[in-house]
Amino acid sequence: MMKVPFCLPLIDQDVINEVNDALINTGWLTTGPKVQAFEEEIKKITSAREVLCVNSWNSGTTLALKWWGIKPGDEIIIPAYTYSATALTVMNLGAKAVMVDVEDDFNISVQKIKSAITAKTKCIIPVDIGGYPCDYDEIFELVEDPAIKRLFIPESENQERLNRILVLADSAHSIGALYKKRHSGALADISVFSFHSVKNITTGEGGAVCLNVPGLSNSDIKAFLKHFYLYGQTKSALDKTRTGSWRYDIVSQGMKGNMPDICASIGLAQIRKYTTDLLPERKEIFARYNSAFQKFEWAVLPPHETDIKKSSCHLYMLRIRSISEYQRDKMIEYVSKRGVGVGVHYIPMAMFSLFKNKGYNIKDYPNTFQNYEREISLPIYNGLTVDQIDYVIDTVINAYTDVISYS
Ligand SMILES: *Cc1c(COP(=O)(O)O)cnc(C)c1O
Repeated sequence: MMKVPFCLPLIDQDVINEVNDALINTGWLTTGPKVQAFEEEIKKITSAREVLCVNSWNSGTTLALKWWGIKPGDEIIIPAYTYSATALTVMNLGAKAVMVDVEDDFNISVQKIKSAITAKTKCIIPVDIGGYPCDYDEIFELVEDPAIKRLFIPESENQERLNRILVLADSAHSIGALYKKRHSGALADISVFSFHSVKNITTGEGGAVCLNVPGLSNSDIKAFLKHFYLYGQTKSALDKTRTGSWRYDIVSQGMKGNMPDICASIGLAQIRKYTTDLLPERKEIFARYNSAFQKFEWAVLPPHETDIKKSSCHLYMLRIRSISEYQRDKMIEYVSKRGVGVGVHYIPMAMFSLFKNKGYNIKDYPNTFQNYEREISLPIYNGLTVDQIDYVIDTVINAYTDVISYS
């Protein structure tokens, strides 16, 4: 029996060399030269106007929503089908996470966003599930619609300046994805990547905020975020060393959110060969799964490429036509017993105790449930061998034959 883990972070010689370089040659552990170099690389591959590395997606999004002036009572629209982090980050700021249903491609329904907008709506957080970009043009058409703009009540200086609902992309999966030839990270007002261990590029834990807010100074926004993520302090440890001046001010009621250099060096080694090697390798794995499963009527291939969208192939979200949640679970049991690690993306938030207790009900999100009950995510990561991929394919096909056809 072959063992195929569901996910493995890429720790190759380039990563080891870069981390060693940080340890041996820079004498620097917290935010410093490696973070700066990593931010430059992210800027290069996304064309975002400003980039700030942070210690998680959660910190990045919290910082951005603090800048936007989110307060208790505000409403933020999110998809019902995402990792719970999307909702929890909103809820921990005291705002209400307004969940709406998704489409067959797993992504938030623009029609459902429209029906959910109220005078309290301050932000929309589309999630590029599996790395497949959302319908950004349609979302921006919506927030720019005069009738919807008239509904918007600005309650902070920044909200007054933009004078419409903010679009903040949860791009945790989509670094390297394209929408109409534009890069993820430059598709929304603000986009936040995650560099958690399972993501396409990782720093162990980490994230990045990409700024593209029209009509406002993005370097001013970055400056605010940079103070805010150091407890509101005007000078970082590096600034103090470089200027030799110890005096600083605290200018905002900030938090902790900066990325350490030791983490950035891991991501730096990966991002340098991301578009040339790492992303193409992911796409090859994705294509190998596709060409194997497309022969089967029961297999619903995950969305990944259209004339205008190109996925970053973060997840391989296979769906099995017309099976029940119970049958899906049986298939997972079958492949797990045979050494193949798989997952389900995602258990809908409205099925978890926390959200149920707050009144969310899965019956309100039928497409979300349908996507969930038929979904199995297969291993996809750099370093997966052709033999392993083929073993996964055979095992899934056998699972369907043994568990579904003959039951
Ligand atoms: C991983 C993930 C996050 C959270 O990222 P952290 O860096 O762990 O905070 C948020 N949204 C989605 C869709 C994710 O998959």
